[in-house]
Amino acid sequence: MCGIVAYIGKQPVFPILMKGLHRLEYRGYDSAGICIYNHNRLNIYKKRGKVSDLEEFVKDKDVSGTVGIAHTRWATHGEPNQHNAHPHYSQFEDLALIHNGIIENYQTLKKELIKQGRTFYSETDTEVLVQLIDYIRVSSRISLTEAVHQALSQVVGAYAVAVMSKESPRSIIVARKGSPLVIGIGKDEFFAASDASPIVEYTNEVVYLEDEEIAVLSLSAKGKPKMEITNLKNVKKVPLIQKLEMNLSSLEKNGYPHFMLKEIYEQPQTIRDSLSGRINMELNTVALSGVIDHKEKFLKARRIIIVGCGTSWHAGLVGEYAIEELARIPVEVEYASEFRYRNPIIYPDDVVIAVSQSGETADTLAAVKIAKKNGAFVYGICNVVGSSIARASDSGSYMHAGPEIGVASTKAFTAQVSVLMLLALALAKEKKMIKKSSLEQIVRAMYELPEKIEQVLKKDPQIADVVKIFTYSRNFLYLGRGYNYPLALEGALKLKEISYIHAEGYPAAEMKHGPIALIDAEMPVVVIATNRGNYEKIVSNIQEVKARKGRIISIVNEGDTEVKALSDFSIEIPRTEAILSTIIACIPLQLMAYHIAVQKGCNVDQPRNLAKSVTVE
Ligand code: GLU
Repeated sequence: MCGIVAYIGKQPVFPILMKGLHRLEYRGYDSAGICIYNHNRLNIYKKRGKVSDLEEFVKDKDVSGTVGIAHTRWATHGEPNQHNAHPHYSQFEDLALIHNGIIENYQTLKKELIKQGRTFYSETDTEVLVQLIDYIRVSSRISLTEAVHQALSQVVGAYAVAVMSKESPRSIIVARKGSPLVIGIGKDEFFAASDASPIVEYTNEVVYLEDEEIAVLSLSAKGKPKMEITNLKNVKKVPLIQKLEMNLSSLEKNGYPHFMLKEIYEQPQTIRDSLSGRINMELNTVALSGVIDHKEKFLKARRIIIVGCGTSWHAGLVGEYAIEELARIPVEVEYASEFRYRNPIIYPDDVVIAVSQSGETADTLAAVKIAKKNGAFVYGICNVVGSSIARASDSGSYMHAGPEIGVASTKAFTAQVSVLMLLALALAKEKKMIKKSSLEQIVRAMYELPEKIEQVLKKDPQIADVVKIFTYSRNFLYLGRGYNYPLALEGALKLKEISYIHAEGYPAAEMKHGPIALIDAEMPVVVIATNRGNYEKIVSNIQEVKARKGRIISIVNEGDTEVKALSDFSIEIPRTEAILSTIIACIPLQLMAYHIAVQKGCNVDQPRNLAKSVTVE
């Protein structure tokens, strides 16, 4: 969370920073700020609110210059107000710093710095870091780079930072530990940002900074660029320059009113991309190179542990059902945040699957590190290529969903589930647990997924219509059985995160153990009734809701009659194989949440208090 962007070169820095901030705004939008060097000083302008508020605020300011840093904040320490907005100055405005992450020992450091006569102007942990760097620099009379090294060695926590100094305005220092940072190498210029989106239109040569690395990006007096990377122990590192594969149009709304809607509509293509090269149409089989290359690890696995947070955790649950059903390997699904702190039992013959869209989720990354320390084999399922989790994993599969900008995850969820289903099939095949004919049948159904999603998308106007009368409902219940239980959780999460309506997902049979007490004529209940296996059971659950006057919105298979007859509203979706059903059935749930939020006037792409890419614990 928090987006950082920095530039040093010959171009006017202001438009580069602003465009970068807009691209990174999904990471946080509590406040935004910039620092530009001009007229021999570091000029900071910052504003509470969105990047557009900052743009308005600086309209009459002198933003000329070719060196600068910028930040869009998701507050962790201190209210989202102007004081706490980044960049932060050091005491005498000699340094300016932006930060993504949390300095955990900031209070101890702050007390010490106050004792040494430093005054603080914000409640943030970040200001402690800039004051500490400056204090070390001044009191020890050492270079800024050396002071950054020493300060970062003292801090506990996570950071991606960019520092500018009045004394050496021809360089910017960036560093990271736990939070992402990518450096773009242009012609006589450098960019640095939390992800590659602010860089992509200027250069495709990037360096992903490693944990505990510090890069000094500078221009000589003649304008010659120089990049020097060292680690915290002062060991020089040779930068690994990589080619960026990102397309600019994937970062624009392309005519859609919101990124979320665009991303929902992209799903036929993203599913195609996530399956591409991994299923073979002629042989009707699956081939996941990450599994094939490490077949022994999977075949010998005592169990699989899937770790994730939020939507990724829901996808993990779908994965659990499929892997256990098809490959008969015991699976546990854990919230990464719980897993990492509860001293979990991990055996060297466990396989840990880490699921994260951004590949930067702090808790999931920490879970990966614990798993590796205990000797387990780690398989990453990430969307962002080159992300920390992808790099920390022993093997893995990318989701290939393209950049997801809407804060509420949509296309990443279906891509995660697709990859997990491929994994379940690949394991079942390697373990010879699945009949050839069944495998062929599922693979054929996988091919049909994009087209079936397109059919569901055609129902968008109908879905928008159905949910109109529920716009001002205060609660929603989502029920499902089997594979549709995780989907009930995901449907409820989508609704609450963007429309602020309280919603809960339950396994349908659990309803009578508590939530049924909530049901009355005011309570819409969304029932996902697409599985054939337990159809009769879900019909009974619907009867139980009806008996208490609850209002049923059902998601049913085409041709369904029984559930449809009991429902107030039904949305029909094309039939598919049970293990693939969530990929289709989640589309109406995403659209329902979207339309309710739009009708309520909520900011769909940037819901309050949330941010994407949770790089703090
Ligand atoms: N801890 C910093 C703040 O509250 C940065 C937050 C973040 O990166 O999410 O300002």
